[in-house]
Amino acid sequence: MSPAQTILKDVFGFDAFRDGQDDVVQAVAAGQNVLAIMPTGGGKSLCFQLPALLRDGVTVVISPLIALMRDQVRALREAGVEAGALTSGNTPEETDAVWEALEAGRLKLLYIAPERLSAGSSLGMLRRIGVNLIAVDEAHCVSQWGHDFRPDYLRIGELRRALNVPLAAFTATADAETRAEIVERLFDGQPPQTFLRGFDRPNIHLAFAAKNNPRQQILSFAAARKGQSGIVYCGTRAKTEALAQALREAGHAACHYHGGMEADDRRHTETRFQREDGLIVVATVAFGMGIDKPDIRWVAHADLPKSIEAYYQEIGRAGRDGAPAETLTLFGPDDIRLRRAQIDEGLAPPERRSADHARLNALLGLAEALHCRRATLLRYFGETEVKCGNCDLCDSPPEIFDGTQPVRMALSAILRTEEWYGSGHLIDILLGNLTDRIREKGHDTLPTFGVGREYDKRQWQAIFRQMMGHDLIRPNPDRHGALQMTEAARPILRGEAQIDLRRDTIRDAPRRPAVKALVSDEDAPLLSALKAK
Ligand code: ADP
Ligand code: MG
Repeated sequence: MSPAQTILKDVFGFDAFRDGQDDVVQAVAAGQNVLAIMPTGGGKSLCFQLPALLRDGVTVVISPLIALMRDQVRALREAGVEAGALTSGNTPEETDAVWEALEAGRLKLLYIAPERLSAGSSLGMLRRIGVNLIAVDEAHCVSQWGHDFRPDYLRIGELRRALNVPLAAFTATADAETRAEIVERLFDGQPPQTFLRGFDRPNIHLAFAAKNNPRQQILSFAAARKGQSGIVYCGTRAKTEALAQALREAGHAACHYHGGMEADDRRHTETRFQREDGLIVVATVAFGMGIDKPDIRWVAHADLPKSIEAYYQEIGRAGRDGAPAETLTLFGPDDIRLRRAQIDEGLAPPERRSADHARLNALLGLAEALHCRRATLLRYFGETEVKCGNCDLCDSPPEIFDGTQPVRMALSAILRTEEWYGSGHLIDILLGNLTDRIREKGHDTLPTFGVGREYDKRQWQAIFRQMMGHDLIRPNPDRHGALQMTEAARPILRGEAQIDLRRDTIRDAPRRPAVKALVSDEDAPLLSALKAK
């Protein structure tokens, strides 16, 4: 047995390395600069903890969350490894104990909160104690536009230069831009040895559903999994509270979690979730990085996540123990509008915005996928050989039809109104509804007026959503979200390309009773008279 395997078994109690761990451990132990990209739950911590024990001196670990550091230090100590943390959460006694172990040369791993790096004294201290390796956990926090940016992470590059020791960076964020930013900021642009471990999480079942009655959809999903630990992600704080309440009323143990809560309350919920079996946490994205619960059995999205990366991270919290786990992601046109608006109203520079739109598009493409979701998801991360059989589309392949004709109708309505309108007005044109606005604009004379009566309003909304999913149309932020065509739509409009649509999401679009659409409030007495007959 190699020394690494002996430690794996004797100290960590594992029989074998997981996929990819072995190679990373070897490279880090050999003192190379390493960037390891491994999925959530892939076992990244071991990839710096084990080499720390193989090398002389102290390994400094930089990690973004105090809770994460504490958990790891506790687990290491229980395994008999000398580890300590210097964070603002320490008691003076804890800090003294860390210093003592350091001065006595016993300490193998020293966890440091990134904000400590800006304290001038830290560098001098780290110089003295014989640091032999810097490990950076959640290295994507160095990415300025990422969702977890930590300004203090920007000091890590400086630290590496000052100490002149190897650096190993770990993240689950696969996307190429973030990776390039990590290399730039942590390694001064000198490419480290990079390991990219497969992103497939075959035990996680993937499913999406069009949002029609979201509260009921989430309640039934939870009811079918009663007694199992789960997370429901919501787009707003208010919704987390309302939905947690609804779940409790349905007899579940559920609580809410969001960034607006007191730190103590948040910590309380985190601990409860960690310890209790079968608790449901209804949360915003604030709930996540610090959660290391291996047996989360399901994750549901009551609202569409903001990007394909966010989706992958969030569902990835389920089933870390490798046992089957379920997911459900709801999406509707309002989600798409909201996410677009958030990107456009954000502070990011224009080039960043278009990247964010592209990531959202990738997620919409996944939501409206015609074939296997796992293959679609992993293709985005650059993997081509994907075996699935564990997603809703593999369970029951959707019925597909040639949607070229309705898509061309919609595109032509967009073009003939010069890309100045949203889907509501465009659908009125397609349905031939003589609204005031149609009359005022003279749109009842357009050749597309009334050509789409084969479908009703909801069905047209489903078609527009699928068109967005295929990135044929996009809301234009400079025109209050009016729909514009993309390059991808031109061959279809010219009759040079064909487009498949899913029949189910169009057919099952909840219809409003037809009569209701025809009457206004003034007709209500007439309607009830008709009904009474
Ligand atoms: P990551 O940081 O990549 O999300 P962690 O380091 O938190 O993953 O590890 C996830 C879980 O996998 C932990 O419970 C850890 O103890 C376990 N684990 C790590 N390596 C192994 C292994 N070789 N064999 C079995 N379990 C492992
Ligand atoms: Mg981790």
